[in-house]
Amino acid sequence: MSSDIRIEHVTKVYSSNGRSLKAVDDISMEINDSEFICIVGPSGCGKSTLLRMIAGLEPVSSGEILMGGKKITSPSPEIGFVFQEYTLFPWRTVGKNVEFGLELKRVPPQERERVVAKYLDMVGLSRFKDSYPHQLSGGMRQRTAIARTLAVNPKILLMDEPFGALDAQTRNILQEQLLDIWHKEKKKVLFVTHNVDEAVFLADKVVVMTARPGRIKEIIDIEIPRPRERTETEVNKVRNVILKSLFEEVQKLSDH
Ligand code: ADP
Ligand code: MG
Repeated sequence: MSSDIRIEHVTKVYSSNGRSLKAVDDISMEINDSEFICIVGPSGCGKSTLLRMIAGLEPVSSGEILMGGKKITSPSPEIGFVFQEYTLFPWRTVGKNVEFGLELKRVPPQERERVVAKYLDMVGLSRFKDSYPHQLSGGMRQRTAIARTLAVNPKILLMDEPFGALDAQTRNILQEQLLDIWHKEKKKVLFVTHNVDEAVFLADKVVVMTARPGRIKEIIDIEIPRPRERTETEVNKVRNVILKSLFEEVQKLSDH
């Protein structure tokens, strides 16, 4: 069965202290099988809000979000989420962190072991199965978080600036690993970043959002074959188009 995601006229209004704030305004888009979509937009334009709504962590104010034709109203193992901050359980080893979702799903121990081994291998952390998060570098912790999310076999991976806290070199390596995993696992990925280079390196489509309230400003298709060379002319051309589009939105913030 199709597990395509359809976002239809979704708006989000937050109310706090008697004031209301429109964070997301009438967003419609689709995420089809095996697509890698990046979202870029000025800070505060509702990117995280949109991801949380797709994850079922935050209710929509109007419109609807469907997965395989069914409305998303609460979190489910079909939808994986990787956050910017390290969200590992500090008291669990790397292996036990990856195992966590499988325990919740009551997967039998032997099968859990097999799946944990598979995903630790995929992110290159087999040797660190018994280490604790505090013994790992930032990049290794994010790889653990990715393995933990993949282990429950979600249909879509939502990633909210997952590499934002990493140094440039580690970030580049993880981008390449993520593309490898995406090829192998054929999952849909929706990836938020404020780094245009990252978006151009990764995505099939880049969604540029407007300044708050976030709307879709434009969607740019990237048809450059992978692996992409970060310095190639085509990559530069697309990067400049996106940067210009984004810059117009950031300017609006400073005009206010
Ligand atoms: P982004 O991820 O693009 O930086 P967010 O989705 O985090 O943007 O936030 C969009 C807007 O909604 C911001 O103005 C933010 O302050 C506001 N906002 C986010 N979460 C809440 C909340 N739980 N309650 C009230 N306002 C919120
Ligand atoms: Mg955010």
